Amino acid sequence: MMSLFKTSFFFIICIYFLYGSSNDSWQQFVHYTMNVKLVPESHEMRGTSHIIYVNNSPDDLDRIYLHLYPNAFQEGSVKYREFQQKYGRLGRIGPMLKDITPYKAEISIHSFTVTMGNNQISELFEIDDTILMASLPEPLVTGDSLIINIDWTHHVGEQIERAGYVDDQYNAAQWYPKMVVFDEKGWHNDPFHAEGEFYGEFGTFDVTIDLPKNYIIGATGVVISGDPGWKKVEVDTSQKFDEWLKKYQKNKTGADSSARRIITFHAEKVHDFAWIASPTFLYEYGSWNGIDVHVLYNESNGEKWTKVVRERSERALEWLSTKFGMYPYPQVTTTDRIKGGGMEYPMLIMNGSDSEGLVVHEIGHIWFYGILANNELDDAWLDEGFTTFQTRWYLENRYPPTGHDFSLSHYKNYQKKWWRYARRLDGAQWSAIRFATSGFDEPISRSSYLFGSGSSYRQNAYTKPSLMLVELKYILGDSVFHKALQAYFSRWNLQHVNEEKFITTVEEVSGQDLGWFFNPWLHDTAFLDYAVTGWKKKQLENGNWEVSLDIRQKGDRFLPVKIHSILKNGKVYETWYKNHLWRFKDTFVFTVPYNPEKIVLDPDGQTVDLDRRNNQTGGLKHEWLFSWPGMFYKPRDAYVVRWFPLLYYHELDGYMPGLHLSRDYGHWEGTDLKLNYGLESQKLSWSVFLWRKPVHSTSGVWWDLYGYNQIAIDQFTVRIHGQWNKKYSVPPFHSWTFGFFHSNAKDTSRTDLFDPGVIRTVFGRYKIQVGSKSAGLDMTIAPDDVSDWSFSRITVTMNAEFSAKKFGMLDRMTIGKIWSGDEGVPNQERYTIERAGSGDIFSKPYLRDESSFYGIPELRSHYHLAGDANLRGFFGKGYAGTEAIITNTAEVYYSQSLFGINVKFAGFVDAGFLWGSQFIQGDNGFDGDFLANAGLGIRLKKNWFGKSFYLRVDSPFWLNITNEDEDSIDFSRWVFSFSKGI
Ligand SMILES: [Zn+2]
Repeated sequence: MMSLFKTSFFFIICIYFLYGSSNDSWQQFVHYTMNVKLVPESHEMRGTSHIIYVNNSPDDLDRIYLHLYPNAFQEGSVKYREFQQKYGRLGRIGPMLKDITPYKAEISIHSFTVTMGNNQISELFEIDDTILMASLPEPLVTGDSLIINIDWTHHVGEQIERAGYVDDQYNAAQWYPKMVVFDEKGWHNDPFHAEGEFYGEFGTFDVTIDLPKNYIIGATGVVISGDPGWKKVEVDTSQKFDEWLKKYQKNKTGADSSARRIITFHAEKVHDFAWIASPTFLYEYGSWNGIDVHVLYNESNGEKWTKVVRERSERALEWLSTKFGMYPYPQVTTTDRIKGGGMEYPMLIMNGSDSEGLVVHEIGHIWFYGILANNELDDAWLDEGFTTFQTRWYLENRYPPTGHDFSLSHYKNYQKKWWRYARRLDGAQWSAIRFATSGFDEPISRSSYLFGSGSSYRQNAYTKPSLMLVELKYILGDSVFHKALQAYFSRWNLQHVNEEKFITTVEEVSGQDLGWFFNPWLHDTAFLDYAVTGWKKKQLENGNWEVSLDIRQKGDRFLPVKIHSILKNGKVYETWYKNHLWRFKDTFVFTVPYNPEKIVLDPDGQTVDLDRRNNQTGGLKHEWLFSWPGMFYKPRDAYVVRWFPLLYYHELDGYMPGLHLSRDYGHWEGTDLKLNYGLESQKLSWSVFLWRKPVHSTSGVWWDLYGYNQIAIDQFTVRIHGQWNKKYSVPPFHSWTFGFFHSNAKDTSRTDLFDPGVIRTVFGRYKIQVGSKSAGLDMTIAPDDVSDWSFSRITVTMNAEFSAKKFGMLDRMTIGKIWSGDEGVPNQERYTIERAGSGDIFSKPYLRDESSFYGIPELRSHYHLAGDANLRGFFGKGYAGTEAIITNTAEVYYSQSLFGINVKFAGFVDAGFLWGSQFIQGDNGFDGDFLANAGLGIRLKKNWFGKSFYLRVDSPFWLNITNEDEDSIDFSRWVFSFSKGI
């Protein structure tokens, strides 16, 4: 511990430094001296804190507050209660609400004193949730200081958010009694909410940690005494890692279990202190520009982390220091926190993977949150938004043009060679557009804990502000934007920042009033959608061409627009439309040096323009490509047209080669066309599916249309769909559909699935889904005056899937009834007993007819497409469909990977009561008859070139009812399928 005189002298210097340099703003100063003992046996940290707190504010303080963050991990805490209402991230809510026991944490306070001058003035305090409050019997006046001494124990839980233990590793974050910030808005004594990070006072930390000697430790600050254990576990990167590790593990001697390691870290000008310790850490050292880079990772992750994480950390330091301002600390430590995700602390990051993007993101936070220290609870976008922005910028710079690092092992060779990838920016824009038009959008500037859901927080703290900064860069130009960022850094580094400080700096540097830009982005949920609605051109006497461009803002947010005129000589002429403010319609007249052919708004795709289909004269361009299964490619500035060859077979048509064509534009539309031609019959069959979503609607309603002429059958369906859920992307999800259906079965020589005639129905569906459980209600009415048949039908279906490690269970229950009208109900509209109904079967071209399984009728009769009553053992019996069912079909499985193939061994039972139908052989039909089958099966799944191949073979060896010539147990019964059994 430093002497009091030295300490006082030191903080006087600090106060002077902070006061003198801070643009007449002030901030409090704190000096923590802590002694902490880690006791892994009881998962405890026992600590003493000696805190010097200096009141630099113009106010006299009558109380002080401290955060006790670990207290949030208890039943009934603010965080817990908000989790119960589904605030926060679903991945954390689930485990904590299921059973909080392993995650329970708490700081207990054994003694607490406040001293002013030489007098102890109080030892009283109150704790409410995560906030400790102590009244001061005499106020702490401006410029004066007090000392707080606390004896405490932190009972550490398993890691659930940022902190806790994972196996025998301790991730110590938000782990000690921490001063609440007092700033110009007063005390920020916020509890630790479900969503929302931290805000801390700048100061100095002297932290001595006493832990078992076999633990290796990394922390905020520099080592000033003791040995963190790095040298003994330093990896020799000149050797191959696995060889080095083998030797290391052979020579590793278990430390004496009672031996201790005591080490002191010192950190200045930081607002938090974190540390991490593990007995299986390995160490690598690097540096950039005289700044030490320490990397600590677990032996088991070494193959992935070695060398690259050190390089990535160094590169991040260089990138950030060059782009925004020099790193002010002596070291940065990148550590392996084992659990996924990542988190930033001053001079220290804890990462759940070796990913380059994650390293750049978390180290980037040391600038945005660390050095430019925003209140993460009130202005989360000031760190997450900047950090997301700079990470994408870094990746697009390093891996142009898309920002994807194809050297990563998860990119397969065929993907690198044949697939296309959109820019990371395109992906982020689509994600924000999807959210903005979902009806759940909220303003970015809201406090973290007020956002309706974890996904809404993520959009508003990360994605949207990162895209706002892209637009800001676009309208200011690169050089002004860089100057503004660097001015923001140099003006406010090592101080607290807020929205106003950032905006004022940008306005001063750019010389522009930017309220019109920032307000809609930060305080509203406005849309941007510029469109070209018409244009004229004429040649002027001087040979130039004049363009009159009709521009419309179809949303309610305004922005200058970069315009590219593509000239007939192949050149591109750039101009800016800047008459944007508060104009929904305008005609922009400008001249270009040559005959213009096409005009494009925002040609570089830098804005969150909802719909780029209307951003140019003429249409949006088309990109053609082979349809690789599994490829996800959604550029913002093109329709994607994919093609794929088809081959069907039917004995009357012969081989039917064909083409599958689809055209999509991101979130808004898709069109799908299949054409096949019978080589023998010379007949054409086709099907069309298309869907459209309205752009300027937040109702969640869209529509689709499906029609085909498959020679035997014509069909046409039109539907509108809607969905509703209470919170963005938080279950339960409700969805509904209304539609009209027309089918004409005209040629039953080509399929045995349909009774001939015209059916016209109206139908409605409702479905509720929570995770892997769902329930649906279907209603269909075929009135007799418009159909050759008449009936109505109600079906309730419930689905559930459970899995635990290698075991799982699937279940579906179906209850349905059909009421026949005067004209009766055709076979295709009844409940099929052994598999899916006729319509679903017909949708698979290889199942349409006995002959269509490429001429092998045996396979078709054994094919089991799941659906309807689903009593899979009763295949091939010639049952007609029934008119009422109560059935349940269930499978349990054990899953195992063998030779790169996912293999599931399953047992199943299908059973149900059936009413009202007849055997085709003509007996009296079912009347509440109970049919059941059980069996065993195997499922093989393999992903090959992006396509998932699935094969299921089931033996329903037991039937409860058999024909006279059949045994109830017969292992030679089999069905197979390319899709799931339930
Ligand atoms: Zn972050």
